[in-house]
Amino acid sequence: MLAVKLLPVMGWAFGSKGMRNQLVWFRNDLRINDNPALFYASESGEPTIAVYVATPQQWQLHDDAHSKIDFWRRNLHCLYDSLAELNITLHFFQVPTYQQVPDLITSVCEQWNISQLHFNQQYAVNEQERDQHVVDVCSQIDVQTHSYNEQLLLTPKSVRTKVGEPFKVFTPFARQARQQMQEPLVMLPAPKRQNSIKVTRLREELELQDVSWVSVGKAVQDMWPAGEESAEVKLIHFYENNIQSYEQNRDSPSVSGTSQLSPYLASGVISIKQCWHATTHYCGRSDSVIVWQNELLWREFYNHILIDYPQISKHKPWKIKTDTIQWRDNETELRAWQLGQTGFPIIDAAMRQLLSCGWMHNRLRMITAMFLSKHLMIDWRLGERWFMKHLIDGDLAANNGGWQWCASTGTDAVPYFRLFNPVRQSERFDPEGKFIRHYLPELSALSNKEIHFPIKNRPEEYPMPIIDLADGRKRVLAEFKALGTK
Ligand SMILES: Cc1cc2nc3c(=O)[nH]c(=O)nc-3n(C[C@H](O)[C@H](O)[C@H](O)COP(=O)(O)OP(=O)(O)OC[C@H]3O[C@@H](n4cnc5c(N)ncnc54)[C@H](O)[C@@H]3O)c2cc1C
Repeated sequence: MLAVKLLPVMGWAFGSKGMRNQLVWFRNDLRINDNPALFYASESGEPTIAVYVATPQQWQLHDDAHSKIDFWRRNLHCLYDSLAELNITLHFFQVPTYQQVPDLITSVCEQWNISQLHFNQQYAVNEQERDQHVVDVCSQIDVQTHSYNEQLLLTPKSVRTKVGEPFKVFTPFARQARQQMQEPLVMLPAPKRQNSIKVTRLREELELQDVSWVSVGKAVQDMWPAGEESAEVKLIHFYENNIQSYEQNRDSPSVSGTSQLSPYLASGVISIKQCWHATTHYCGRSDSVIVWQNELLWREFYNHILIDYPQISKHKPWKIKTDTIQWRDNETELRAWQLGQTGFPIIDAAMRQLLSCGWMHNRLRMITAMFLSKHLMIDWRLGERWFMKHLIDGDLAANNGGWQWCASTGTDAVPYFRLFNPVRQSERFDPEGKFIRHYLPELSALSNKEIHFPIKNRPEEYPMPIIDLADGRKRVLAEFKALGTK
């Protein structure tokens, strides 16, 4: 492990004799409200200091999208200001990967005379390993560590079947989760303003702008404004205007009928409890509200699966047997899918939405993922990776869960013989072609009937379909059937 040496430079070390400090380590919990690590550190009575450790090479290894990394930067800026109002300074550090984090945290703790370190848990394997190392090194230097569950409604491994097993199917999981949830949910306020303290500036400390960020277009930034207030505005707008029609509108990509809170939830700019609380306090009880709550529970379900089945973090399918499927190796078709050049308008419009917004509507994520993994029979992991590289809300548990659902390799997945026909889906969920026209202006002159599968009046610049859907269907069904005999 690389040793990171932190030497004090100009400045003033607070209370170097006897007086000790609390350290809050921010990760993907970029908010001051309902943040257990921050709240409990600041309640301790000792001065609170905050850090953020950027790990650019790790981001690359994890395929984190540029739009998401830029979203972190913008939210950290807001977080810095909010913490400053509480008299808490957020300090920035950078190391290449998670490997160097334990040494960095140790040095920071030693330099700043830290007695206790607080952080909110992350559940994927690499993050768990990193945190275990940090806990181990802290115990060697007499720093107590406290970790909290802030990402989920219910504690990991607490939702169990009668025989104490993890649930493998969503519906009984959701039923049990609802029963276990204590109402009203306990949410924590932002901490009280702290007494002002100053610590020695460390040599390796960076300014926020000096971290190795990546750039992203202004259009994407405008689409996803940063900060807790922006997230709250989105949540309020959703429950005041859209939640009661969510059930009816959620599958129409041309209607802004979903909350678009996923980037804020994925980076912890809003908490899952804040979202759930809104449904029970401001929305009344209706079928539509229950449908939206169920989406929050899908998020919960996939995270609990991630925790119980470590293979999910290691590019392995949940149904191990499906690892023997002979996925096709076809770079040309993969590229056509990635760039929205398949000749199937709904697929192409969706893939272009992803590239231009860093986000894709849920119905389209399902249609495009199924097209790649079933009709083209290309390894779902390549699609999962492409999504992760471009989604501002990229989240291992939800992305993997969604992909494995579509590819029929996951838990409670779609049966392998149920394929979404992209043309039928397009006719059903974008009947007037409004969504297609927005992202494929070259097709805008086509009639509502033709636009879903243009053959006769296809403009020259728009590609011919890259596959015969019936052939693709036959091929993948044969492969899955053969799996039964393997
Ligand atoms: C192939 C595929 C990949 C996906 N990748 C991601 C991903 O990387 N990150 C991500 O947050 N979601 C992912 N999803 C789930 C879902 O598509 C998005 O959460 C949703 O489109 C976000 O839009 P919204 O915030 O308007 O959702 P809403 O419909 O308003 O739902 C509210 C919240 O519930 C959660 N949620 C909704 N649907 C699901 C679901 N099926 N699984 C898990 N959580 C859900 C999200 O946090 C979402 O913000 C994926 C789905 C599929 C099929």
